[in-house]
Amino acid sequence: MTATNGPLREILERAHRVPDLAHFPGVDEINQRLDDLTEQHPDLVTRRRIGTSRLGDPITMYSIGDGPEQALVYAGVHPNEPIGFWTAIRLAEDLCADASFRAGCRWHIIGNIDPDGTRLNEGWFDGPFNRVHYTANFYRPAPQEQVEWTFPFQYKDAYFDRVLPETLALMQVIDEVKPTIAVSLHNTELGGVYYYVSRELTGFVDELHAIAASFDLPLDLGEPETPVVEPYGPAVYEMISSKAVYDYVEALGMPTPNDSGSSSSAYAARHGTVSLVAELPYWTHPSIDDQTPTESPYQQVLAAAADELESNLRTLDEIFRAARPYLSDDSQLVRGVAAFLPYLLKRPERERRRAAEIDPERRATVAEVFGLGDINRSFRLRYGGMLLRSLDGEIARGSASAALYPPAKRLRAVYAEWQAEARSLDEQLHTVPIKHLVGVQYAATLALLAAVRREAP
Ligand SMILES: [Zn+2]
Repeated sequence: MTATNGPLREILERAHRVPDLAHFPGVDEINQRLDDLTEQHPDLVTRRRIGTSRLGDPITMYSIGDGPEQALVYAGVHPNEPIGFWTAIRLAEDLCADASFRAGCRWHIIGNIDPDGTRLNEGWFDGPFNRVHYTANFYRPAPQEQVEWTFPFQYKDAYFDRVLPETLALMQVIDEVKPTIAVSLHNTELGGVYYYVSRELTGFVDELHAIAASFDLPLDLGEPETPVVEPYGPAVYEMISSKAVYDYVEALGMPTPNDSGSSSSAYAARHGTVSLVAELPYWTHPSIDDQTPTESPYQQVLAAAADELESNLRTLDEIFRAARPYLSDDSQLVRGVAAFLPYLLKRPERERRRAAEIDPERRATVAEVFGLGDINRSFRLRYGGMLLRSLDGEIARGSASAALYPPAKRLRAVYAEWQAEARSLDEQLHTVPIKHLVGVQYAATLALLAAVRREAP
């Protein structure tokens, strides 16, 4: 690691002052905290409604600081990723508290761009913070309902323009503010820290590593989330691009995507905006940064993980098909499951094709073996949990068909086995203090602005 430079040291000092946090804030608490701040500092904070969620929640932006630079920070792009809610709140509080901090840049902060999806995650925001409780109360919107991936997209045979009202609100803000930097607040669940940056910036990879290290968080050196991204350095990647995904899938001879959009980063690039995503885990495990080679060939590990994933997804798919005629159409959860199962079922074949091209002599590392197995564990707990809530919710409404009870019974039994397996792993997991997660995301956000300023002509 390089020596920490002056600006980074100040950033880290600020980020380490984030107080203890015992829960994640839901929709009403985020609004309340940012509204209270606005009322306490009417001369500093400009509050503006920028949109309305599909189910009727207002979406609000809070602007603080002097400029001339403009920075845009938005949380809730994936509403199952709440670390950014605190990061947005903390940033707003610090800007109000410190005149020198708000000089030079005007920060536009959207505390929550997807209130509808957030409300469906609030069941786990108060803990206990173990994987079993979390995934049983987890909701991730269908790809076509994720703010992050519903920006307009046109490439080769792909055409997407079904922009959500929430996404439209963000597009309008991006076009109005033309931000120097945009920080899309995401997080993962288990592993180490990694980052996406829309372009290479001198010295920034080292700074991002130093930020994670200063909070004792490991870097994620296992499988990248997608093989289409080029690393700028360990655990720091170029931003995922829908075009690159399209080209990758096309080259494998698989059906190309035609129902998903582009990202906020790709959209903001028209204004020369530099974007950052800091991915942070709630939990870490000793294996996730262990580069020791195992006895197992990587090719076999990859293929075996693909087979296991396929078997789990097929089980969920069978249950969902049996239950589908008896489920209400208007549920976000049902729409999520209906979209994710066919989408994820393409993954095993893609992984097997990838495995076929790997040198059979190459041994998998401990990190790779753990990471591949854990992707499967995460998928079946997440989407099994969403399916179970769909079925149980339908039954709880009091008018479910008798035909819904057998698939519900089967799912409860399968899901209980998966939870039991996860419970044994839960004991080995280290739960990262929330203030450290917020601290890393906050420091990375501030470091991005500093890195972009360094490169300014
Ligand atoms: Zn995300």
